[in-house]
Amino acid sequence: MKKDVLYIVVPCYNEQEVLPLTTERLQEQLQAMIDAQLVGEDSRILYVNDGSIDSTWQLIEEHTRQHKQVCGLKLAGNVGHQNALMAGLEAASERADIIISIDADLQDDVKVMTEMVEKYHQGSDIVYGVRRERKSDTWFKRNSALAFYKLMRHLGVKSVHNHADYRLMSRRAVCQLMKYRERNLFLRGIVPLVGYRTDSVFYDRTERVAGESKYPLSKMLNFAVNGITSFSIKPVRMVLTLGIIFTLIALGILIYVLIAYFSGRTVSGWASLILSLWFIGGCVLIGLGIVGEYIGKIYIEVKDRPRYNVEEEIMQ
Ligand code: UDP
Ligand code: MG
Repeated sequence: MKKDVLYIVVPCYNEQEVLPLTTERLQEQLQAMIDAQLVGEDSRILYVNDGSIDSTWQLIEEHTRQHKQVCGLKLAGNVGHQNALMAGLEAASERADIIISIDADLQDDVKVMTEMVEKYHQGSDIVYGVRRERKSDTWFKRNSALAFYKLMRHLGVKSVHNHADYRLMSRRAVCQLMKYRERNLFLRGIVPLVGYRTDSVFYDRTERVAGESKYPLSKMLNFAVNGITSFSIKPVRMVLTLGIIFTLIALGILIYVLIAYFSGRTVSGWASLILSLWFIGGCVLIGLGIVGEYIGKIYIEVKDRPRYNVEEEIMQ
């Protein structure tokens, strides 16, 4: 029987310091899996160069010459981690049966790939790599990530806790994923929507082997805002709720003002002023909220996401 072909997709942005080591480790792991007959001989490591401005691409080219298992994909410019990953997945899905995505910095344990592939053979289409602990991250990164996961859940976005973009996907899962045509990609939130059978493997996350994080605070914030606004129109709805609350407060104030007015405790002009302040505020917010609802609808429509994903098909 022909073995399943595995592609390991690695997005790289200015990773010249780690790349040699990454190739070495990934190749070791890949060879071990081929030897154990878990995956086929045609399995590859696919580097996606996300418009690096250092010598990452030259290194990738060099590695492709030295090792027949290494392939490279060069993007025209820097499109960001998520889009680079997607480019790699799309390219890999044409040749592979199984695709594993992993960061270039070796923070994720490459050894659990074996377990991932085993879980795939047991029938899972998606296997998440989940970090057991975040000791190696800074206090700030650990806690900000935790708060973010909580907020996401609160806003109704399904995502796997402590899972980054280290995961295995079957070819059909990737093909389904490609039908989510949105430009604001937040893969961690979309992959669970694909809906096939999933499983997880656990590992300890270590420190970056070399080079610096390509996610400074500004990019992290951007990522978080993107994650929320590309899944949820709840923030817009909150404006509407706020408007209604303000109008209700205006009603309460109306009663108070009337009492104060008739008992003669007011300065002239105060009653009408304070009342209109709250009332107009409430009206403006309600108006904004209603407009927001429509924009929310347009927003969901223009995403043009698939309406369903077929899990299995039995046809005689
Ligand atoms: N990356 C990318 N494009 C970017 C930024 C990052 O392809 O614009 C890649 C980077 O090379 C790495 C992965 O995304 O393989 C994760 O980045 P990093 O390790 O810096 O993020 P962190 O682990 O600090 O969150
Ligand atoms: Mg990293």
